[in-house]
Amino acid sequence: MPATEEPADPAGEGPPARGRPAAQGDAASTDQTIGRIGSAIAQGAHMTQSGPGVMPGLEPPGASREAARPGSSHGAAREPAALQPQLDAFLARHEAGLIEFRRDLHAHPELGYNEYRTTDRIVAALTAAGLKPRVLPRGTGLFCDIGPEDGYTVALRADIDALPLQDEKADAPYRSTVPGVAHACGHDVHTAMVLGAGLFLAQQAEAGLLPGRVRLLFQPAEETPGGALDVIAGGGIVGVDRAFALHCDPRIEVGELGLRTGAITAACDKVYVKVTGPGGHTARPHLTADLVYALAKIVTELPAALSRRVDPRSSLSLVWGRVSAGSVANAIPDDGIAEGTVRCLDDEAWHRAPDMMRALLQSVAAAYDVSASLEYVRGVPPTVNEATSVQMFRDAAAQVLGEDGAVPTPQSLGGEDFGWYLESVPGALARLGVRKPGSTVEYDLHRGDFDVDEDCVAVGVRVLTATALTALWDGNRPGADEPVEGTALA
Ligand SMILES: [Zn+2]
Ligand SMILES: [Zn+2]
Repeated sequence: MPATEEPADPAGEGPPARGRPAAQGDAASTDQTIGRIGSAIAQGAHMTQSGPGVMPGLEPPGASREAARPGSSHGAAREPAALQPQLDAFLARHEAGLIEFRRDLHAHPELGYNEYRTTDRIVAALTAAGLKPRVLPRGTGLFCDIGPEDGYTVALRADIDALPLQDEKADAPYRSTVPGVAHACGHDVHTAMVLGAGLFLAQQAEAGLLPGRVRLLFQPAEETPGGALDVIAGGGIVGVDRAFALHCDPRIEVGELGLRTGAITAACDKVYVKVTGPGGHTARPHLTADLVYALAKIVTELPAALSRRVDPRSSLSLVWGRVSAGSVANAIPDDGIAEGTVRCLDDEAWHRAPDMMRALLQSVAAAYDVSASLEYVRGVPPTVNEATSVQMFRDAAAQVLGEDGAVPTPQSLGGEDFGWYLESVPGALARLGVRKPGSTVEYDLHRGDFDVDEDCVAVGVRVLTATALTALWDGNRPGADEPVEGTALA
């Protein structure tokens, strides 16, 4: 559905939370919310009361209130002309605070499952805005609902952890203060963007303009990986109908959104094969089991056989990184190992891979009379973007970035644990451009000098907000979940 089309309202009436929004926002409550939001970001992001990190640009509360007040009788969601000025007004007052929030996290990065300070900052910001965040049982990461207690629900996900890398930026005042730990994957940016979108949407909800529920997911330990599983185990996607995430991409310029239907990141698992036999003299392999020969067969046959057992479009590949057996030239050893990775772009093939590999391993080992065991360690599933959700991103980008805002992006063989959510709910991950327009500096993720053009924070807030609202409106129409195009293997 085009972003400007009127939403269906099958009931013709109904509460603002689920059907049409209130005809006009409650001005008093909107003003209170806007006032709270300024202090909310400051609550979460303040560094020191006396230092330069005190949130600039957030006060005085009350400025631009008129501009920020929802003015359309149809609310912000379906009206680009209505949403943009509201976002403009919100960002005019809060963009600097959100950037300061990002810089504070950047200066104080925390590794997976140790994001206690980060969690505290997010909780403080959300609580100050009148929201009720729920911290996950392990003590880091949280989720927070905005809007009614039930109804169509859209999740916006940020990851909050940093990497075990030294920050090598020479002159950024916000560079990491923690030796050997850096936000080199942009998760500080992701966190600030989802917080900003959440605070804007909370403002909309309080004015009766949110056509459903939005859940903010601030997950720990994306890099570890596995934090998505903690969110899921903690009930974070119960009731969620659709999930969206942005990831920084230094190859794309600020103001552009990289989209792809189907697999956008790959699965990456680790495999450990152990082969055992009686061992013996190399003069008499027929009286024992020629373990090194058998191991060599396993190392060559398994990748070849796997590639013939799955759809080649799944791009399932087994590549060995370590093979070891024996210690001298004339003795057949009694054990040997092979270790490698399995990468895959197709969810179904990924699910089948361990059993297929186990069966192939046993059949090759049996042919040479050795015993073999397999330890198959799951990493993350492929992130397979659902076509309808990608279209919602595209509609949102057209609405807030212009018709040229969405650009195609290639699939990556890197892993991303957002794929765990998409095992259960439809959704999509998009690449957010963070490269300064015209810049010749080449940044990459997972490098000590990684940085972003901070204009991307406001762009991310706009995209996430418009996507959530688009998904809420479309989710409330009949037949909303029918895919519009493509397949996972497209
Ligand atoms: Zn990363
Ligand atoms: Zn990342």
